[in-house]
Amino acid sequence: MRSEGALPELMRAAVYVGDAQIEVQDLPVPTLGAGDALVEVSHCGICGTDLHLVLENYARAGSVLGHEWAGTIAAVGTDVRGWQPGDRVVVNPTGGCGECRACRRGRPSVCLRREPPDLLDFSRGAFCRYKLADAKRLLRVPDGLSTRAAALTEPTAIAIHTVNLADPRPDDRVLVTGAGPVGLLTTAVLRARGVDDITVSEPSPLRRERALAVGAHTALTPDELSRAPMGRPVEAPFTHAFECSGNARAAEAALDQLDYAGTLVFVGTGHDAPRVNHNRVIVLELTMIGAYNYDAAGFAPALELLASGTLPLDLLIEPDDVGLAEVQATLHRLAAGELPGKVMVVPT
Ligand SMILES: [Zn+2]
Ligand SMILES: [Zn+2]
Repeated sequence: MRSEGALPELMRAAVYVGDAQIEVQDLPVPTLGAGDALVEVSHCGICGTDLHLVLENYARAGSVLGHEWAGTIAAVGTDVRGWQPGDRVVVNPTGGCGECRACRRGRPSVCLRREPPDLLDFSRGAFCRYKLADAKRLLRVPDGLSTRAAALTEPTAIAIHTVNLADPRPDDRVLVTGAGPVGLLTTAVLRARGVDDITVSEPSPLRRERALAVGAHTALTPDELSRAPMGRPVEAPFTHAFECSGNARAAEAALDQLDYAGTLVFVGTGHDAPRVNHNRVIVLELTMIGAYNYDAAGFAPALELLASGTLPLDLLIEPDDVGLAEVQATLHRLAAGELPGKVMVVPT
């Protein structure tokens, strides 16, 4: 093993203890294997998934959540070449197996043999000080990009995948419903792709304001969206709608705003399912798609986009980071819509 100084035996971690509660506990620092790197977590973003897992009690007691992170290598195993303690990294997702029926259809993002996401494998969250990673999956954080901003890599990779699946052209008219962290990032990635005509629908004034700041052309309250006449498009319809709120009413409204041959992309998950007006889908020949994971290229394009300077990182990330002890309170603030951007946890 190579490391800079001795490693501690215990680390602080935010642990889900059941009953919608998180507690800061001391956990053992993971043991390094020959091909592993031990990465000291610099920042880990709070995801909407973490909110669902904790506040709606889906998580298993004893889990450490958090999957949007970047850090600095603290130690590497004896077989690891090309990586040193001090290197700044993110961990690439596993690629598809290339053989299962999803991979054979060109969709490794839903590979049947992919590693379960962290939210299903609770032992591996990053609301803690140290994470173990297979050195073969490490990606270097580019020089011009802070490790803090690199913690946006995972959600940026999802936003890129989302936009790629829908594949809007620069002259398309796009609606984004929900301007929380996912909606804001989707808006910013759409802008980076040259799509300028973006309308965001969002009830919170704070989030509407942030949506305009990250590049939306128009921001509306959900009430301001027009009611769809039967069998015909609204007066100013959209070619694409990205449903980022997970709210059933928002999804129904988004579908109503589409033009002939328009596309609705489901991005935000939610407890209640929307009612789909199938007549409208038929008559207007609409398409509905779901976006869940990453492109086959993994995290590299997201790192590149983040390092390119085209995304408004200071607006996508909330200015105040929080410690592990503040995660619980921050989950509630996020659920209440008080914080538009991504909140970063510093695991101290
Ligand atoms: Zn996430
Ligand atoms: Zn596969």
